[in-house]
Amino acid sequence: MDDQHPRRSPYHPLAVVESDTVGEGTRVWAHAHVMKGARVGAGCNLGEGVFIERGAIIGNNVTIKNGVAVYDKVIVEDDVFLGPHCVLTNDLRPRSGRFKRAAEAFLPTIIRRGASIGANATIVCGHEIGEYAMVAAGAVVTKHVSPFTLVAGVPARRIGFVCACGESLRADLTCTCGRTYRRAGNATGEIRPVGDLV
Ligand SMILES: [Zn+2]
Repeated sequence: MDDQHPRRSPYHPLAVVESDTVGEGTRVWAHAHVMKGARVGAGCNLGEGVFIERGAIIGNNVTIKNGVAVYDKVIVEDDVFLGPHCVLTNDLRPRSGRFKRAAEAFLPTIIRRGASIGANATIVCGHEIGEYAMVAAGAVVTKHVSPFTLVAGVPARRIGFVCACGESLRADLTCTCGRTYRRAGNATGEIRPVGDLV
């Protein structure tokens, strides 16, 4: 770095980054707020107006589009995509005033590696979104979502399976990209990739 070409901060001058645990190369756009205590990994992209609360944990290479709030008790693993204005709640029975609940009563939500949450979708707290699952835009998720599963609607239901690449799988659990999957053989009808995901 020299005086004429100072290295640009990865944080927009109008971003408020109070956390000292934000990884290398993570970019934070205007009007985003990362609270002290929040943990954000490396290589992430936090869009305009994103809010990360103090107890939230964000992995590496996560994309969070504009207007998303990630509250306390929400865990987002590596390579997750959170679409614009999706909502991740943390209190199943919220009250204000004299019946307001303590944060200990909040329920954790986990978004597993590689999963994608569509624009305006809502994840009701206490649920897990499996690896590489995909939640369609506007869906309201009220139960766990299995890995590589595509869910849509209100309440969200399984409408198919998706590949790690994002394409829908054919009926024989193959993808146009060449990856193949098989039934895991459990009661919930989950699928798994054949071999390692590369
Ligand atoms: Zn594929």
